[in-house]
Amino acid sequence: MNLSENDLLGFKTQLLKLKTELQIASETGQQAEEVVELDQARVGRLSRMDAMQAQAMSVETGRRRRQLLVEIDAALERVKEGYYGDCLECDESIHPGRLKANPSATLCISCAEAQE
Ligand SMILES: [Zn+2]
Repeated sequence: MNLSENDLLGFKTQLLKLKTELQIASETGQQAEEVVELDQARVGRLSRMDAMQAQAMSVETGRRRRQLLVEIDAALERVKEGYYGDCLECDESIHPGRLKANPSATLCISCAEAQE
């Protein structure tokens, strides 16, 4: 790992902040994820489809959010273990700019590109 103590602390703070935001978002998003009550008598076919689409979207958003939370927790674990910022594939340091864009990144740019 070639990050300075300061950088590391910055990423850790960023990760914790992201985690808090995600936790708040999942609390408010949970209600949207629950099955939309569809009153056929009141809502037309189109708005029913809208409601179903909105529901599918919030389920997808919730799924991504949980996935991201797992990634953030894993990143925080790596901070604790002292190998945060190392590529999980090749052990090279992940470029700090890449970590700034995505602090839970696990792969260096070349390994990430190779996986696509
Ligand atoms: Zn790599």
